[in-house]
Amino acid sequence: MRRPVIAGNWKMFKTRGEAVTFIEELKPRVANVTHCEVVVAPPFTALADAAQAAKGSGIGIAAQDVHWDAEGAHTGDVSPKMLLDAGCSHVIIGHSERRHDHGETDEEVNRKLKAALAAGLTPIVCVGETLEERESNQTQQVLQRQFQGGFAGLTPSEFSRIIMAYEPVWAIGTGRTATPEQAQESHAYLRELARAQFGEERAQAVRILYGGSVKPENIKGLMAQQDLDGALVGGASLKVGSFAGIIDYPAA
Ligand code: PEP
Repeated sequence: MRRPVIAGNWKMFKTRGEAVTFIEELKPRVANVTHCEVVVAPPFTALADAAQAAKGSGIGIAAQDVHWDAEGAHTGDVSPKMLLDAGCSHVIIGHSERRHDHGETDEEVNRKLKAALAAGLTPIVCVGETLEERESNQTQQVLQRQFQGGFAGLTPSEFSRIIMAYEPVWAIGTGRTATPEQAQESHAYLRELARAQFGEERAQAVRILYGGSVKPENIKGLMAQQDLDGALVGGASLKVGSFAGIIDYPAA
């Protein structure tokens, strides 16, 4: 039985104060939620305050990136140990905005992933194709390349500690959501890749979130898909009302 995860990616939004206000307002809305795990990913500067505010609430705190080294001369980067120190339980790795804005490669994703696992963080690893790739029928090829590169050298037991996120780039921040059927097709393919590399048991257990313009209005149809185990939400996670509306998908 895979426990769904609803995770909010705040990107470069919210000051420390805004993050704390959000968490204080979200806490009563999720106090009785047992059907899914709830995670939010504030920017680096707000992580410690958000984690402090979330203490005891069951809300997980994720960073949006991590460096693979424990420390060193890497200006602007943050290590797994620093994320733990700030109170993080999760970390997003390989988001398409990092792949595109910062030229992040599958090999770097793999190094970050291994470092996060070694530190005891739960990685949320993002994969997904661009519009051009989808329109030239390369979706599965791209997912295969990102999967095999990103998860290279992992043991099945390490793989079992990962959350995956399928985020078609053309659906991120565009208002254009993949149809539930399009999402299901890619999720099933990712599970097939997991089966081939890590075996049936791990493939059945891994949670695969969908990301790309998820809103309270479309979450229910997405969650009805067999291989879809939650959502990574950008824009709609910035307001407590819409984020809580997504979390409450069974009632939608
Ligand atoms: C994201 O940034 O991971 C995302 C899915 O964004 P949005 O929900 O705004 O499309």
